[in-house]
Amino acid sequence: MKKTILTGIRPTGRLHLGHYYGATKNWVALQDDYNSFFEIADVQALTDNFDNPDKVRTNVREIAIDLLAIGIDPEKSTIFIQSMIPEIAELTIFYSNLVTMARLYRNPTIKTEIAQKKALFGNEGESVTYGFVGYPISQAADITAFNGELVPVGEDQLPLLEQCREIVRKFNSIYGETFKEPEAYLSKTKRVKGLDGNEKMGKSLGNAIYLRDSEEEISKKVMSAVTDPNKIKKDDPANPDVCMVYYYHNLVENENVNTICEECKKGARGCVQCKKELIEKINNLLAPIKEKAKKYEENPELVDEILLEGTNHAREVAKETMKNVKKAIKIDYYK
Ligand code: ATP
Ligand code: MG
Repeated sequence: MKKTILTGIRPTGRLHLGHYYGATKNWVALQDDYNSFFEIADVQALTDNFDNPDKVRTNVREIAIDLLAIGIDPEKSTIFIQSMIPEIAELTIFYSNLVTMARLYRNPTIKTEIAQKKALFGNEGESVTYGFVGYPISQAADITAFNGELVPVGEDQLPLLEQCREIVRKFNSIYGETFKEPEAYLSKTKRVKGLDGNEKMGKSLGNAIYLRDSEEEISKKVMSAVTDPNKIKKDDPANPDVCMVYYYHNLVENENVNTICEECKKGARGCVQCKKELIEKINNLLAPIKEKAKKYEENPELVDEILLEGTNHAREVAKETMKNVKKAIKIDYYK
């Protein structure tokens, strides 16, 4: 029997290089060996985008196109929409009794995301809702509704997975052995930094290169990437360790990365030349992905069909889980 993978992505924007290297490239590699579920987490996206439903709705299909374009194969894997599985919402309610408010506020992912909101939106960031603080609980329901055993995610998500494992332990200890504790599966690149040098490239942070960005957009973004501020003239020696351009040369596995490092340190490499080389590398990497996406952009009904079929399959699995859950909690009335 193949083990089950469950992981998700919020439809808050298209896929970027952070998702690709931090998570989704792995998803493609794992789908042959695992029973894979990929969730488009629209309910979770609404926790901090409840006032912008158009954004979430548009991005459901965009994310699906991105996933198909990087090689998620609907013949092997299930791609589904979270809000169409009401069993997840039901399970979230039962789990919410098992988590204290103090524990939620201590969750490092939640802490970081609240701090980022404050930095981006000032006082508006203070208005953190109950739904937002509670999203680790709904994420635990996402994973366990499908009996997810392995959860391939970026490093920023690890504390959420730990919280899920705690919920599973508590559920099992009170209601009897029902769920397995899921495990995280990290990529070789655990966390991809942003163009601005931020520790994380994020859709909500405005510092990302998207997989379907045009060549012009990529060029503009790379040209504005943060480099060593002490390098003023083209032949000044510089420190590649503080340069985002060097960082991305590494990320996209440029085979000349050692030469780039040496030349940069010696002052034998101008930033403009270095950026142009990176632009070419990224364009070559993304061209086949954009080509594959075109088929789905031109035929959105193909995407809808895949999503509907995936969601129907996922719902059947979640319904079975809920039967066991209700039995365990002794609320399986009038069967
Ligand atoms: P948002 O800012 O709306 O939360 P996001 O860019 O964080 O968007 P998510 O949909 O929350 O994207 O995350 C999807 C997956 O991609 C998660 O597994 C997450 O860990 C991973 N991921 C996102 N950004 C990065 C990054 N910069 N480096 C590594 N992994 C990442
Ligand atoms: Mg996120």
